[in-house]
Amino acid sequence: MNTFELDKKYVAPTYARFPIEIVSGKGSIAVGSDGKEYIDMGSGIGVNSFGFCDNEWIAAVTKQLNAFQHTSNLYYSNPCARLAELLCQKTGLKKVFFSNSGAEANECAIKAARKYGAQIHGSDCHTIITLKNSFHGRTLTTLAATGQEAFHQNFLPLTEGFVHCEPNAEDLRAAIDANNVCAIMFEVIRGEGGVLPLDAEFVKAMSDIAAEKNILLIADEVQTGNGRTGKLYGYMNYNLQPDIVTTAKGIGGGLPIGVTMLGEKLEDVFAPGLNGSTFGGNPVCCAGAISILERLDDEFMTEVAKKSEYIFSELGGAKGVEGLSGMGLMIGIKAEKPAKQAAVECLEKGVLVLTAKDKIRLLPALNIPFDELKKAVQIIKEVCAG
Ligand SMILES: *Cc1c(COP(=O)(O)O)cnc(C)c1O
Repeated sequence: MNTFELDKKYVAPTYARFPIEIVSGKGSIAVGSDGKEYIDMGSGIGVNSFGFCDNEWIAAVTKQLNAFQHTSNLYYSNPCARLAELLCQKTGLKKVFFSNSGAEANECAIKAARKYGAQIHGSDCHTIITLKNSFHGRTLTTLAATGQEAFHQNFLPLTEGFVHCEPNAEDLRAAIDANNVCAIMFEVIRGEGGVLPLDAEFVKAMSDIAAEKNILLIADEVQTGNGRTGKLYGYMNYNLQPDIVTTAKGIGGGLPIGVTMLGEKLEDVFAPGLNGSTFGGNPVCCAGAISILERLDDEFMTEVAKKSEYIFSELGGAKGVEGLSGMGLMIGIKAEKPAKQAAVECLEKGVLVLTAKDKIRLLPALNIPFDELKKAVQIIKEVCAG
């Protein structure tokens, strides 16, 4: 049997895959088993920050693989400690917990917020407010956090203690008044929800209410983090200081890693035994992440901004394009034709794109070369116009 047949027969059918098999890749070019080359404008859902098989990343990962691949959290290891240092230096946050995915990073944030809420406001203070159209993961608790009913179906009952509100100050105040709230969790750009950035006014109101009531702010930067929006973390585009920042996807450059960063208020929230992960802080994943994070400097971000401007200027007002949303290299395109259809047509013309709700979603590698970006954007333009 070929890969398609094996997958259909043996892999649980939770994914609606596109009909291609990737066999190799370099940079932003993916090679299919049909021998065709594709320009990758999705980077594995914002994971391959420096594209496929980036040389520096491979060198960092293989160096660590040749030293030791795993040791458990019973012992110290340098890549884990150094990555934590780098993250704290770059964000000003104080402590880092490592896990293996975005959902787990959010689970840790939720645990930290509930423990803090109970300590500060009493044991009934455990409600977390999240936004409508948010996405926070697939575990039962992060599904509960996810503000989209469609994801909840079939899996009830979910973890209690989540209230979803619209991203406007009035709704948020009402939700806070009606519940005993320990935290507000949000994506600065809701990714799966349709690439929807928060407006600065709402962020200011949220930040003010949180300060006034000593409610924690949890930024879910699983998708928006690590240079994706043109700043190191998405919240840095706003006048905002979260108490907890979670990330995953792009920080690993292609290996699984989840990160929960804890600010001053939460520095001492955990003690030995209160959270853990067998693979968390895996030295190979951490070595790869260090190689990614170290390269996301101001000069590199300027290049990301240029590429972003190029995409916005080419596709803004283009034929068949109703509107654009997003920031940096996290971009939603509302086309006249259905997004799924556009994605299939792009694929047929050699460009891999993602979708989010009714939009085409672009999350290219941050280092995509300009000539490949230009080719891909022209094809997307053609598809939208046709
Ligand atoms: C992808 C994503 C998650 C879930 O990450 P996993 O690694 O799939 O568990 C959580 N939050 C946001 C904002 C995401 O984009």
